[in-house]
Amino acid sequence: MQVLVLNSGSSSIKYQLFGSDLQVLATGLVERIGEEAGHAVHRITGADEPTVEDAVVPDHASGFATIVRALEQAGLGDELGAIGHRVVHGGAEFTAPTVIDEQVLERIRAQVPLAPLHNPANLTGIEVATELRPELPQVAVFDTAFHAGLPAPAYRYAIGDDVHRDHGVRRYGFHGTSHAFVAKRAAEHLDRPLEELALITLHLGNGASVTAIDGGRSVETSMGLSPLEGLVMGTRSGDLDPAVIFHLIRQAGMSPDEVETLLNRRSGLIGLCGDNDLRTIESRAAGGDQDAQLALDVYVHRIRKYLGAYAAVLGRLDAVVFTAGVGENADGVRRRVCQDLELLGIRVDDARNDGVRASAVDGGVAAVQAADSRVAVLVVATDEEREIAEQTLVAVGER
Ligand code: AMP
Repeated sequence: MQVLVLNSGSSSIKYQLFGSDLQVLATGLVERIGEEAGHAVHRITGADEPTVEDAVVPDHASGFATIVRALEQAGLGDELGAIGHRVVHGGAEFTAPTVIDEQVLERIRAQVPLAPLHNPANLTGIEVATELRPELPQVAVFDTAFHAGLPAPAYRYAIGDDVHRDHGVRRYGFHGTSHAFVAKRAAEHLDRPLEELALITLHLGNGASVTAIDGGRSVETSMGLSPLEGLVMGTRSGDLDPAVIFHLIRQAGMSPDEVETLLNRRSGLIGLCGDNDLRTIESRAAGGDQDAQLALDVYVHRIRKYLGAYAAVLGRLDAVVFTAGVGENADGVRRRVCQDLELLGIRVDDARNDGVRASAVDGGVAAVQAADSRVAVLVVATDEEREIAEQTLVAVGER
């Protein structure tokens, strides 16, 4: 049975089609939905060239139809048995992948106030896929689900229970599919049961988060009510004093919406130096650019602060796992993050770390710690789509 995985954004749909052994049959995206010129790329496994379509895609329904058509033209999709949807926010109630029916759809809609920037697009993806393929089970896989078992001291903010209960104000955590996937891969690589391991997983992409995983369970994570808290990200500030928001509203005359946009889209690396692509920032810093250097310094400092904190939360540590665009590729960031951390038992071997890119390594996992490092330092290629496909199969009872 084939599984189609959809990741629907506000103006794009990314997809991957998996075969019965979870081999990738096709991957692609439709972007600039609703804009003047749409763009779609379909990569069929085994084909020499990707298919590129430049045509107006007025809405998500036609975006999804474009995907179905491309798969049919490639002779794929006949054995499609389920569609798995990435859903960013599952609130406190969705703790596992869930087969979607009207009631579930309503409950996902009810989470929109918690994730106004993400859930509406995910919902649109579910609605158009259900409309075009009503006979197929549709499964929601939540970014928050892996963190649903966080202990109370980790998920509660220090505010009254009425605010927590009435308004859902607590830590939820995100990037759960990625943290769960790389934790499993790390355990396989270490050849030890996940249930025995204490791990810190660093998902460093355009969005970034860190999770402490004890025995396979997320026990602390850096994103909170929304994906804004925690590490410095491409365009998001991560941690700051909440009073900054009141200060900007009262003293700078900004509206709440303007502050939200500032903190989500114009802060983080781009706020610090004007660029959010770490490759550009590294080359600017290497050329002596002070703003780029400061951005890198703040970025690395924040990660190290969390590493120390999470080592204390866990009380023991077997491995630090680097993943996502920056974690998998930026050897300089990995080196700086792990520098002088003998205190935590972490020592990287520069010769092993230099030039390592997770996707280019056999099996997608590389160990870069020194021989005498007590803690393993692993670079792991994440694969959120594969994890969503697996969880979709679990939800429909095929695994
Ligand atoms: P992701 O969100 O996981 O796709 O990660 C995207 C980010 O990874 C980009 O913004 C880049 O800054 C970063 N990235 C990708 N490749 C490299 C690389 N070779 N070196 C440094 N950073 C990279």
